[in-house]
Amino acid sequence: MILLRHTLLLLWLTWTATGVAETTILVEAESFAEPGGWVIDQQVMDQMGSPFLLAHGLGVPVKNATTTVEFPQTGDYRIWVRTRDWVAPWKKPDTPADMKAVGTPGKFQVLVDGKPVETTFGTEGAEWHWQDGGIIKISKKIVTLALHDLTGFDGRCDAIVFSTNHELIPPNDIPEMTVFRRKLLGFPESPPETEQYDFVVVGGGVAGTSAAISAARLGCRVALVQNRPVLGGNNSSEIRVGLAGLIHQKPYTKLGDLVDEIGPIGYWNLWEAERDPDSPRSKKIFEVFKKHPEKKIHNAGPPTNYEDQKKIDVVTSEKNIDLYLNTHVNEAETDGNRITAVIGQNIRTGERIKLRGKLFADCTGDGNLGFLAGADFRVGRESKKETGEKLAP
Ligand SMILES: Cc1cc2nc3c(=O)[nH]c(=O)nc-3n(C[C@H](O)[C@H](O)[C@H](O)COP(=O)(O)OP(=O)(O)OC[C@H]3O[C@@H](n4cnc5c(N)ncnc54)[C@H](O)[C@@H]3O)c2cc1C
Repeated sequence: MILLRHTLLLLWLTWTATGVAETTILVEAESFAEPGGWVIDQQVMDQMGSPFLLAHGLGVPVKNATTTVEFPQTGDYRIWVRTRDWVAPWKKPDTPADMKAVGTPGKFQVLVDGKPVETTFGTEGAEWHWQDGGIIKISKKIVTLALHDLTGFDGRCDAIVFSTNHELIPPNDIPEMTVFRRKLLGFPESPPETEQYDFVVVGGGVAGTSAAISAARLGCRVALVQNRPVLGGNNSSEIRVGLAGLIHQKPYTKLGDLVDEIGPIGYWNLWEAERDPDSPRSKKIFEVFKKHPEKKIHNAGPPTNYEDQKKIDVVTSEKNIDLYLNTHVNEAETDGNRITAVIGQNIRTGERIKLRGKLFADCTGDGNLGFLAGADFRVGRESKKETGEKLAP
């Protein structure tokens, strides 16, 4: 096996019984050098096996994602693209007529050196699968690859495989596909390990970011692991939920200091300032609103309202915190009923890392870590029958 790398060249060469070299190359969409208008979605990677690129253009086709791929040999390659037709679940025969989907809103092309592969992708099958793109000629060793969105309506591309073995069908079953991916990416069987942290926080929303900073200031060595490129979770430019909740209220006037330090100045700070207009803090808040009236928009405001960089700056200035952005925790190791380590996977490169710790906090917003560690869980709410609460469902 020979491994070469060029941006994201992922190469596997084997010799067949006839002594002819076969080449198989895996290109992960999330590792494209330039994502263009496509965005990385990691939310269902545990269910479908990988992060993927999504063309969310609200009906306007997004800019091409591009990258360069190096082929060790020119020749005829079979191309496979892992994708799905995301409206296919509404095309089944039993779908009510008024719910029936028509067309293929997630369709896209793959351009090799600017020329579209004949097959249009994202056009078949409700489930993630490898769509056959047929055999194409690669006549140069270095080619540019692009994902060309045709609709702006959520085309999805997970990965592309090129193979000189025209009989090869890439595996789609998650355990088998994981081994296939690791082999082609050249990743070790076991991920490298970190030091043993005092405290590992999984999830970098407002809860996780606050927990990490508090612990670091108490002298703990902390790892903060967040599966997005920004901190803040719902209160980030990516989701745009305004930070709500009154702070600095009597009798607990210090409560909320930390949230205030990392959080953006927004709607509720103005509300507070208007009730105490003469304090130095309120005056500062009025100044901010004079310059930025758009900050009055609480939810779904402009991205700058959520001040992503402010959170990152506070965290990175804490010498006791190691920040792992773009890292999705998808495995937990336990000893008895204690978590001893978590394994995180980089959502762009696929590289894994084992983070060891004495204490762990599940700040994923959804109890993901508890689930991975085998804790009891429930989906939904307790019923009225169970609790006797009159407002329960
Ligand atoms: C539309 C909307 C409106 C709301 N309005 C209000 C309101 O007015 N007032 C109010 O008080 N609350 C409101 N909320 C609720 C509030 O946003 C949440 O309670 C709060 O954001 C929770 O913060 P968190 O840090 O616990 O979780 P989140 O903000 O969800 O952050 C968790 C982070 O962990 C990451 N993560 C998840 N799994 C993993 C993993 N396995 N590995 C690594 N990272 C992971 C996620 O990507 C996310 O960034 C609203 C929520 C929504 C969705």
